[in-house]
Amino acid sequence: MTARYEPVIGLEVHAQLMTRTKIFCGCENRFGAPPNTLVCPVCLGMPGVLPVLNERAVELAIRAGNALGCDIRARSIFARKNYFYPDLPKGYQISQFDRPICEGGHVPLGDGRSIELTRIHLEEDAGKSFHPEGGGEQSLVDLNRCGVPLIEIVSEPAIFSAEDAYSYLVNLKRILEYTEVCDGNMEQGSLRCDANVSLRPVGKKTLGTKTELKNLNSFRATRLGIEAEIARQEKVLAGGGTIRQETLQWDAERGVPVAMRSKEEAHDYRYFPEPDLPPLLLSQQKLQAVRDSMPELPAAKRERFQTEYGLREYDAGVLTDSAQFARFFETVVKHFPHADRVANFLMGPYLRLQKEQEGDDLLPVTPEALAELLALEKGGTVSPAAGRQVFEAMVRTGKGPADLVKELGLEQISDDGALQTVVDEVLAANPEQVAEFLGGKEKVLGFLMGQVMKATRGKGNPKVLTPMLRSSIEAKRG
Ligand code: ADP
Ligand code: ZN
Ligand code: MG
Repeated sequence: MTARYEPVIGLEVHAQLMTRTKIFCGCENRFGAPPNTLVCPVCLGMPGVLPVLNERAVELAIRAGNALGCDIRARSIFARKNYFYPDLPKGYQISQFDRPICEGGHVPLGDGRSIELTRIHLEEDAGKSFHPEGGGEQSLVDLNRCGVPLIEIVSEPAIFSAEDAYSYLVNLKRILEYTEVCDGNMEQGSLRCDANVSLRPVGKKTLGTKTELKNLNSFRATRLGIEAEIARQEKVLAGGGTIRQETLQWDAERGVPVAMRSKEEAHDYRYFPEPDLPPLLLSQQKLQAVRDSMPELPAAKRERFQTEYGLREYDAGVLTDSAQFARFFETVVKHFPHADRVANFLMGPYLRLQKEQEGDDLLPVTPEALAELLALEKGGTVSPAAGRQVFEAMVRTGKGPADLVKELGLEQISDDGALQTVVDEVLAANPEQVAEFLGGKEKVLGFLMGQVMKATRGKGNPKVLTPMLRSSIEAKRG
């Protein structure tokens, strides 16, 4: 009989803080500048320089702590984490060790459950090594990222499936973006995740030996990586082997975890209190000021969208998926105060088009322009079907809705005479369907309506057409 195992996962997430400057110097905190242009003696670790703590970084760490329900320490301590690596010119990283700024807290999974956090601490980022294509053995280093402020959010080993790890990350990212703590850009490395994975026999409380999986550069990669690592460990244990505590690199191309190095223990880093920085003291006033500046969180916004705009829970969830999308919705509603229609349009044509563009970026249409389009539709200038065509053209060309309606010749046809001609033609061309309808098959009306819409290129006014079509067919009974 083979033992059954339960996976146990703990996540360590590094989030770059959205400050203007770095954590201990005045260099710009910005992605994408030419290599080694955003550096100074402090972030390069020249002898004799002193770090000065960026107050904004502290505020953002507290903000994250508030949003995640952590206890904020009135006194926390910076510590040196010593290790040698080419991307770390100082030879140590300033981090926090046994007195982090935040403790406890939890990340909601979105379904009522949540995962406990151990801590959130402040630290500085390291530089970035890269190995240029065709560069042979050559390695280069870009130190622009040295000293970029980070928080590390550490979960308890209390996640029990790759699926839950995925939800954890989605919800955490949303909260960090909502609070403008981190821009959440995983491609640029603003948000990075390491996953710790172990197995234990089902029913057992003690934890098994863990491995740490690195290089997970998307949520999808994280889920796949954890799944593969669980499978690998199961196989080792089933074969009577034992798990070695080690750090693994996720090889996304081959879909396998690859051994990188045996894992350091905390004592290998020779942590000690940072002598160049005093303890970080936070007054009650300071904590209150940060609390007062907290923006609305995802769950609260979702609630409010239901009560304020009368939206269904599901729609409210989709519309508050990102702070940007929620803001877009609210701005459209401000200019076109019919929340139900706006929600409908965003949930339908808007998201469909966004999906086709294969990104989660908002479409290049201003909320004002969309409000104008919906007003044209409500006023009867365009039919909803033609409105969708206009919308696509807006996204494609950047032109305004009124101009496009004219340019594309999509003014709604409400004129009885013109529409009656089209209806008569469609009925004449589809005698079978007319007979079926008269025989009681109501559904056929939808097909005939579709034919009429097609003939008018979506311009026919459905409010006029629906009764007209019905009465024209009825007139054929006899
Ligand atoms: P390390 O010293 O290796 O960094 P920590 O105790 O600091 O380990 O924990 C790092 C992360 O690993 C945390 O998210 C924690 O929840 C997780 N973790 C610790 N032990 C285990 C385990 N046995 N199985 C899975 N995750 C674990
Ligand atoms: Zn600097
Ligand atoms: Mg650790």
